Amino acid sequence: MQELFIKKPFTFDSTFLPNREKFKQNKVSTMRFEDYHITFEIKKNLSKLGFVKPTDIQFKSIPPILKGEDVLAIAQTGTGKTAAFAIPIIDKLHQQKNLRRNDGIKCLVLVPTRELAQQIGDVFEKLSRHTRVKTFTLFGGVEQNTQIARLEESLDILIATPGRMFDLISQGYIKLDRINTLVLDEADHMLDLGFIKDILDIKRKLPKKHQTLFFSATINEKIKKLAYSLVENAIRIQISPKDPVARNVNHSVAFIKMDDKRFFLERLITENPESKILVFVRTKVRAERVFKAMERVNITSVTIHSDKDQKDRFSVMSQFRSGEVKVLVATDVSARGIDIPNVEYVVNYDLPEQSENYVHRVGRTGRGKEKGFAVTFCSDEEKPILKEIETFMGKEITVMDIEKNDYHDTLDFTEDADGNWKALINDNEAFLKKQKKPFKGKRRK
Ligand code: ADP
Ligand code: MG
Repeated sequence: MQELFIKKPFTFDSTFLPNREKFKQNKVSTMRFEDYHITFEIKKNLSKLGFVKPTDIQFKSIPPILKGEDVLAIAQTGTGKTAAFAIPIIDKLHQQKNLRRNDGIKCLVLVPTRELAQQIGDVFEKLSRHTRVKTFTLFGGVEQNTQIARLEESLDILIATPGRMFDLISQGYIKLDRINTLVLDEADHMLDLGFIKDILDIKRKLPKKHQTLFFSATINEKIKKLAYSLVENAIRIQISPKDPVARNVNHSVAFIKMDDKRFFLERLITENPESKILVFVRTKVRAERVFKAMERVNITSVTIHSDKDQKDRFSVMSQFRSGEVKVLVATDVSARGIDIPNVEYVVNYDLPEQSENYVHRVGRTGRGKEKGFAVTFCSDEEKPILKEIETFMGKEITVMDIEKNDYHDTLDFTEDADGNWKALINDNEAFLKKQKKPFKGKRRK
């Protein structure tokens, strides 16, 4: 059977041509972590993680952060921003001669979601092993007593989501008066409407002299101004400003009627049985609906959104991470920062409401050196949003040309034709015949 969602080879467009940025990257690639003047234990931890050379953003961020500068760093999705701030922060603390255990928290890393807190906490934990630096990760949705017990022990770096942190500050379990470094990961989001009040509140509570680090893949002019207004003389580091998504992501858009999307998703999953696929939808209700639609055609998936119990959220993330479940249906709660290996496809089942979330969603694939495919299902109603995204990205997204026959074949292809799915599942023969039916359509490159 000819595949509709066939993985085409990567085309090399002008962004691949050598340019100054590329040249600078080449220079970077000659540098190795072992050449850095950083703590030996950190080097060993880096080597255990398989990190040999710094990425571009790491190369450029580590020296100014070590020097104590304020930094605003913008670099593509999946290019190692976490280690770019974690390495110098841990190093500085470890080197601090008078690092006293009962001194309180010295560095606060704020992130927007619990899963991201856990993931970044894990990076800090791994990179600080066998150093004198102690880290802890705090988030809501779980019982707070064990967290309080941990906070009362010695602690240098706290990675947290704002909600639970404020709870524990108001209960007197967290003191901010020793913090000399504040990191906002997904900084543009943290400085946006939902979070800005909390951030300003935190800033006011910190010692007057402290270092502030902003990291993200996207930022707009307004938020940039706001970020600069919060610090004195920030160093701005921007890698590949025109291309917020890593180059190894291949983008395409398929024009599909809203009601037909599930059939195309079914087809994409069926044609790629070995692939990890992350499906983004607009709302929690839609996430559960897509889950049910897949269940009806015997496709196992899991969902994640803010209505779910935190235990479930962590559990589905780990099932998806391990590959035990290959399809995760998510709202934008998982769009930012999440680093799961080998996600081969990101499907925008619905278009994101904010253009920058396109970048963050598709940035869940093509991480590090991996390659990834971003497929967007766009209905007629969503075409204006697609235009906005293309403007934001500064380029058009390749259109998958689905011929009429092929489109209809996809609707036939389903196990769920006309909603008469039970009959179809019972009728194995008919199902097998359908699978053998060839597709006539081809895709435009
Ligand atoms: P970002 O925050 O820029 O989206 P992450 O910090 O989540 O990216 O890192 C993306 C992936 O790259 C992670 O899986 C991480 O382990 C890996 N990585 C980071 N730095 C390096 C490095 N220097 N060498 C190899 N892999 C790296
Ligand atoms: Mg990140």
